[in-house]
Amino acid sequence: MKTTRNTASQNGTQKQASTKGLKTRSDAAEGLRALFEAELKDIYWAEKALTKAIPKMIKNTTSEELTKALTGHLEVTIAQVSRLEEVFAAVGSKPIAKKCEAMAGLIKEAEEIMQETEKGVVRDAGIILAGQKVEHYEIATYGTLVAFAKTLGEDEAAALLKETLNEEKEADEVLSGIAETINVEAADEDDDNGDTTKAIKAKIKK
Ligand code: FE
Ligand code: ZN
Ligand code: FE
Ligand code: FE
Repeated sequence: MKTTRNTASQNGTQKQASTKGLKTRSDAAEGLRALFEAELKDIYWAEKALTKAIPKMIKNTTSEELTKALTGHLEVTIAQVSRLEEVFAAVGSKPIAKKCEAMAGLIKEAEEIMQETEKGVVRDAGIILAGQKVEHYEIATYGTLVAFAKTLGEDEAAALLKETLNEEKEADEVLSGIAETINVEAADEDDDNGDTTKAIKAKIKK
């Protein structure tokens, strides 16, 4: 028999009490579920915003490799929006987007970088930087969401979120790989007026 209900819940102040002291196990679970759902709405907004921001990054890129990586991740991101809708359905809530201030800021930073750099390898290096900040934010978010879903017994949601988490990790690794070449090119841009490719290869070998 459950006897966890206290006087606070009877006079209707349970919600207020739970945000302060997490009085009972059920209060804590309720609070965690609310946080989980709030964060789902946040990342839903973020992914949707990225489907508009990534095309702008692609337009500003000169590296073929980077263009390919971003184009691939744009497709992945569009599918992630749909997957989040499946997560909402799995946990029995509506897909509502709530502005993610962090992602809005990261996208703004990406735009600043693109404005402040010349088109070419330096801007490419900046786009990778901005892209990796985005991926790291997503990795942190999805990592936590997977853990929350597991704790809440939402196994289907956990599995779906884990798929996205793996895609974000992969995107981050791909960007790291491209950065290895592009950063060297960017560093060489000013002081090398001869055989750039040769210089890059020499630097990479070190
Ligand atoms: Fe994503
Ligand atoms: Zn956020
Ligand atoms: Fe942040
Ligand atoms: Fe991503």
